[in-house]
Amino acid sequence: MKELTIKKYKSSSERIKEALNNPNAAKLYIETYGCQMNVADSEVVNSIMLDAGFAVIDAPEEADIIFLNTCAIRDNAEQRIRNRLNALNVLKKKKPGLIVGMLGCMAERLKNKLLEEEQILDIIAGPDAYKSLPELVQEAGTGQKAVNVLLSREETYAEISPVRKDANNVTAFVSITRGCDNMCAFCVVPYTRGRERSRNPESILREVKEIVSEGYKEITLLGQNVDKYNWNNGEVNFAGLLRMTAEANPGIRIRFSTSYPQDFTDEVIQTMATFDNICKYIHLPVQSGSNQMLDKMRRGYTREWYINRIQAIRKYIPDCAVSTDIIAGFCGETEEDHKDTLNLMADIAYDFAYMFIYSERAKTFAARKYDDDIDEETKKRRLTEIIQLQQELSLKSNEKDVGKTFEVLVEGVSKKSADRLFGRNSQNKVIVFDKIDAQVGDFVHVKVLSCTSATLLGEIVK
Ligand code: SAM
Repeated sequence: MKELTIKKYKSSSERIKEALNNPNAAKLYIETYGCQMNVADSEVVNSIMLDAGFAVIDAPEEADIIFLNTCAIRDNAEQRIRNRLNALNVLKKKKPGLIVGMLGCMAERLKNKLLEEEQILDIIAGPDAYKSLPELVQEAGTGQKAVNVLLSREETYAEISPVRKDANNVTAFVSITRGCDNMCAFCVVPYTRGRERSRNPESILREVKEIVSEGYKEITLLGQNVDKYNWNNGEVNFAGLLRMTAEANPGIRIRFSTSYPQDFTDEVIQTMATFDNICKYIHLPVQSGSNQMLDKMRRGYTREWYINRIQAIRKYIPDCAVSTDIIAGFCGETEEDHKDTLNLMADIAYDFAYMFIYSERAKTFAARKYDDDIDEETKKRRLTEIIQLQQELSLKSNEKDVGKTFEVLVEGVSKKSADRLFGRNSQNKVIVFDKIDAQVGDFVHVKVLSCTSATLLGEIVK
């Protein structure tokens, strides 16, 4: 691939500042819920709106337009957003001209129905409709309700340079695929984010170069299933993209999320092992340790297949950290199935996990074909057992790091003390340490002195 040069590129902060200098620019405030993809999408929306002459600001009270970029993955995510809309009603009463829009997965899932249920909303826009937001705002400005929930087979926002407004200027997300074709029985994502599609690798490399030119030190390549990245019928696969990104940016850390067990290849693992700047951390959602549940969930792999993937990771990258996602109380889950999840977790000894209670989502295969038959109390008890076990595993994993020294990328000042900084090691573990003369954005070496189940505590070594 030819050397990329960045022409006439303006940084996120320059673009934000320029818009704020325009006294006539309408002010937009965006609040983002849910996954990393939504964070990346809000950055695309920032860019589209700035290009259309809007200013983006931090204070909802001062805004002319408020967008909530939403999540639909579980019912509680949607309830949170409905509560937020209730709170925003107070603002709208004070300022009747305020335009409120719902973007993202909840908007896509509920479409026009939201306009009946939530009077406050003026705009509904799905994840593939962001280029039309300036027109939707214009339409809403005339007092009409404006809706675009069309899903696309092509849209990747490839040519847009996202504006990273709330970023720490150290770590950044870069989208490489959109949508998902997996159709897991429990998951609403294929219905809210549409069909899987890959972004042009040149545009990905260009964006990474832009980010690096702004001083960022770490990028995370994002997709619902990054392993399915496929440009031009196999011309570039995910391992190839990873290699090109790592080669072109030697001083920059590369991460990626999310991997999918069925599609996670040895080639990706070997690429990670080859490049020092690809972080030694894999998030590999298992969902359940029971073959019966995996089959019902339509995950497309077995417990044995999953264990084989973990063995491959540990063969090529012995110091690789592994985390996962687990769902407690899926349809028909027996105590035996639940125990299989617990014993798989213990066998693999995950370093970290995201753990959820199953929440039925309309339209999904599970909602259509299975009974959501595990009572709330049992779901909660199983989740508690899963969380307790993971805390023990995380503590054990962290205890093994005490005495070791890691390269850490400093991401910010510790919330608990202004004299301490925090950052992550390659394995994605958070390390807190005394500031001494280090600054946000530096790579430092930190020796781990103690730990909790969530954090490593250490000191900088020269
Ligand atoms: N694409 C990734 C995958 O499937 O491996 C992750 C997608 S999702 C945004 C993140 C996690 O939410 C999933 O891995 C799953 O554990 C959880 N999740 C998805 N649907 C759920 C549901 N209906 N109830 C509870 N948790 C759910």
